[in-house]
Amino acid sequence: MKTAVYWKKLTAGKVSCLLCPHACVIADGKTGLCRVRYNLNGTLYSSIYAETTSINLDPIEKKPLYHFYPGSRILSVGTNGCNFACSFCQNWEISQTEQSGRQKMSSAETVELAVAGGSIGIAYTYNEPFIWFEFVLETAKLARKKKLRNVLVTNGYVNAEPLGELLPYIDAMNIDLKSINADFYKKTCKGSLEPVKKTIESSLKQCHVELTNLLVTGKNDSETDLVKLIDYVSGLGKDVPLHFSRYFPIYKSTEPATPAAALRFAEFTAKKKLNYVYAGNLDAEKNSTCCPKCKTELIRRNGFSVEINLLKGSNCFKCGHKIPGCFK
Ligand code: SF4
Repeated sequence: MKTAVYWKKLTAGKVSCLLCPHACVIADGKTGLCRVRYNLNGTLYSSIYAETTSINLDPIEKKPLYHFYPGSRILSVGTNGCNFACSFCQNWEISQTEQSGRQKMSSAETVELAVAGGSIGIAYTYNEPFIWFEFVLETAKLARKKKLRNVLVTNGYVNAEPLGELLPYIDAMNIDLKSINADFYKKTCKGSLEPVKKTIESSLKQCHVELTNLLVTGKNDSETDLVKLIDYVSGLGKDVPLHFSRYFPIYKSTEPATPAAALRFAEFTAKKKLNYVYAGNLDAEKNSTCCPKCKTELIRRNGFSVEINLLKGSNCFKCGHKIPGCFK
């Protein structure tokens, strides 16, 4: 266990965690809502520091990041715990339970593995990386020294101060925007929308950001919510890439999988206001990036593979229009 950052002592052996907006007050011998920040004798510890459940060399498209070194691979690491409790969590075995064992893996070993595997960097993913804060910050600093990139795949539920401390070491983020409906966040995710919006808005100023909206059948897929979500994203900028992702019944959710037509409708609607919209988790998924100016297809994907990349640096090879993101 590692002494945690962002907390304060209260009376009677209790502590208050200041890492995320839940602001858990934790009694001695108990954990916060994320189950991985533990009060022992009036000191808060991280019980997942340098311990991982999952390590893979993944295509960057799997995060999903489509405008960040397309076609490259990234060492992806995750562990137990989450500060949300989404009933549809696609990674619930590690985020909501401790079923799979954790293995020790130091920051230095993680960085070494990334270098040895020819990875472009390290993605902190699978569970919520912000509740793994101490390890992620330490590893991200070390990774930077080795010229590796750092990527967060996150629900964005974190307080401004820790976010501000970590962001200078982060190159890209995929942030889940689970819905634009505050009630959905409250009832289905056990979190709240406003802090997520703040994270998105702050992060966009400092690193490359793409957003993902998992469309859960009958839960967050109404046309009203869809239009509001698209309006919010287009208000951030027409160039913010937005991924609609297909949900499958899992964990506590029994609603049928998102119909392909619902994803295509979301994609069609969003493309009226946004330049880069993708529909993921579909069979035979083909998601091309086209130049918004001359409409030329620039990056053709098939699943997680890049079949064609016609970018010239970061620009359209035909008309020279600059495509947002980080490219080789
Ligand atoms: S990080 Fe965990 S312990 Fe801290 S406030 Fe959030 S849910 Fe509670």
